[in-house]
Amino acid sequence: MTPDPLFVDAHCHIAGTQFAGDLEAVVQRACDAGLAGACVILAADNAQELAQAGVVAAAWPSVRFSVGIHPHAAGTYADEPARASHQLQAAIDAQPFTRCVGEIGLDYHYDFAPREAQHAVFREQIRVARHRGLPIMIHTREAEDDTFRILAEESVDEGGGVFHCFTGNRDMARRALDIGFYISLAGIVTFPRALELHEVATFVPLDRLLIETDSPFLAPVPFRGGRNEPAHVVRVAERIAALRGIDTAVVASATLDNFRRLFNP
Ligand SMILES: [Zn+2]
Ligand SMILES: [Zn+2]
Repeated sequence: MTPDPLFVDAHCHIAGTQFAGDLEAVVQRACDAGLAGACVILAADNAQELAQAGVVAAAWPSVRFSVGIHPHAAGTYADEPARASHQLQAAIDAQPFTRCVGEIGLDYHYDFAPREAQHAVFREQIRVARHRGLPIMIHTREAEDDTFRILAEESVDEGGGVFHCFTGNRDMARRALDIGFYISLAGIVTFPRALELHEVATFVPLDRLLIETDSPFLAPVPFRGGRNEPAHVVRVAERIAALRGIDTAVVASATLDNFRRLFNP
């Protein structure tokens, strides 16, 4: 009899307030579902979330953290982008299980922060990651060309990283793979009409693929509309396996290997 597969959630926000009330039950369900761990995102500008990281690590010792300032918050640093760098470094120093810088990037869909500020804060944080030898976790929305331009100008191919909640097409996936990045698919891949993403799910080589929930956002089928949680990453793996015509256990073990390679737990 083969052992049950082990899964890993490459991107979730369980240090957020939405999980403060029932964190232990959420972690228990994740472990019951076969999760070996998760990468938990911490906003470097959110003191409450940074403090909660200790609670998360105590409840689930195998989690690792990715710390960064989201592009939505970049406007706060418009006058002095170097402040973002200082804040990020302080947050990294305060959390010994930090293994990544992110989520960082550009979001032109919401444009909550001026684009100039988004660019500057993105660059500052890439430099911190390179200096620290950490990979980066990229959030990019409707900003593909500027994202790749900045990544090239900052020579990130030497440090590597992951495009989280990837929603681009096959060409964009190709560009990400060409600079040595991983592609992380979230619950959107379970949506019946996400045809472009279904193509990406079969196109990305297994050794460059990650799976995530982005909890509490983006609950997969059949949980759409509810609060998402790490246990549901199993649905993402199952959908990708079905699309590729392979066993879920193969997707699980490949993505777990990739997770360990990237985040060096
Ligand atoms: Zn994101
Ligand atoms: Zn996120």
